[in-house]
Amino acid sequence: MDAADRAPRKESWRRILPPGFAWPVGYRAAACFTFDVDAESPILFDHPEAAGWLDVMSHQAYGPRTAGPRLLRLLDRTHVRATFFIPGYTAERWPETVRSIRDAGHEIAHHGYLHEGARSAPDVETEERRLLRGLEALDAVAGVRPIGYRGPNWELSYATPGLLVKHGFRYDTGMMDADHPYRLAVSPEPGAPSIVELPAHWSLDDWEPYNYLPGITGSGVIASPADVIARWTLELEALVEEGGLFMLTNHPFVSGRASRAAGLGRLIERCLEIDGLWVATAAEIAAHVETLPLEPVVHRPPELPPRL
Ligand SMILES: [Zn+2]
Repeated sequence: MDAADRAPRKESWRRILPPGFAWPVGYRAAACFTFDVDAESPILFDHPEAAGWLDVMSHQAYGPRTAGPRLLRLLDRTHVRATFFIPGYTAERWPETVRSIRDAGHEIAHHGYLHEGARSAPDVETEERRLLRGLEALDAVAGVRPIGYRGPNWELSYATPGLLVKHGFRYDTGMMDADHPYRLAVSPEPGAPSIVELPAHWSLDDWEPYNYLPGITGSGVIASPADVIARWTLELEALVEEGGLFMLTNHPFVSGRASRAAGLGRLIERCLEIDGLWVATAAEIAAHVETLPLEPVVHRPPELPPRL
């Protein structure tokens, strides 16, 4: 295929970008590599009794103890800066891990305190206390004040965006209604403040295909990295054609295992080969989106119709 053949396809992706949206000059799409450093947190929140189960705790400790250093080496080798979403409890239990991520130049962002999903909060005050507890832990351990948030389990309440603005966050990542970043109004009120949303999706999350803990998560069918990387590569290449954002979510204890990390390395190298693909941290992408003339998207809860 020569350059002339490719030209019409380039025009087609330009036409489908949302109004006001553009990538930085020279780029036609973006890829963001993110790691949710969950370690023991989600297991302990959902199954507190697992604190006494050495087998399960060792499975989760693989992230900080073994996979983290491997993934940092991979990112260093490929010169990619990533975004690490870290629950406050993980920071307190594994402070050296968090500091090594910080010292390697990666972005650190918020991921709850004990990985509490928003749906488990009985009220907005509880949700806010958890948000603040996570902030305090990241500050105490690493001196970091994150600007980005990812809801544990991707869970968001309609109050979450307002809490994020109130506490100085500039972006959320986890909504699943777009291929491109957008501005997110924190409420339907006219003139409501907004933050940047960096959409994600379950299909670009490593937990579902790989993770298995008997009685806790997973079906026991563990996918091959060859299949997972092939699936993610299909989505990457399709999103590049759409001019969208490839937001990949990995967990060190999951994707830091040897053959999975090797596959992730091949995916990163594929990204670096793609002409015009911007590989950036979530904060870098959010900072760019803040400069765009985007009309904020308003999310309203649906009104339930009367049941017949
Ligand atoms: Zn998580």
